Amino acid sequence: MDATTKTTNEQSDGYRDDCVFCKIVAGRIASTEVYEDDRVYAFKDINPKTAVHVLIVPKKHADNVAELAARDPETLADIVAVAQKIADDSFHGAYRLVFNTGKDAGQSVFHAHAHVLTGEVLPE
Ligand code: AMP
Ligand code: ZN
Repeated sequence: MDATTKTTNEQSDGYRDDCVFCKIVAGRIASTEVYEDDRVYAFKDINPKTAVHVLIVPKKHADNVAELAARDPETLADIVAVAQKIADDSFHGAYRLVFNTGKDAGQSVFHAHAHVLTGEVLPE
């Protein structure tokens, strides 16, 4: 299928022009970088819920963590390793890792992302 017959707005590199996190990865929306490698990008959440609240996203668009796990498990493992590194650097390795999946579970941005919640003792 070529660009003229494409029915979605996903481009060949996975970029979606209606996705805020694709725009952040591409540098078209500003963010505060925490970490970057070939597969993932991590940045501070704009509305932090804990002392350290970082979002880790795959650079290539996936709608949610289940889609990411099925399509690209290495990148999901990379996200977990980056979360561990952030917590090692900021709070002796303790952290909560949250993937809201589906609107009714609180997902508001439909580009897979891990919330890394750390930097303080968290309530149970
Ligand atoms: P969720 O509700 O799980 O989809 O999480 C989306 C998260 O993205 C929320 O915690 C928002 O505060 C955060 N967020 C939305 N837009 C931005 C942005 N431009 N920069 C940083 N964080 C953002
Ligand atoms: Zn996206």
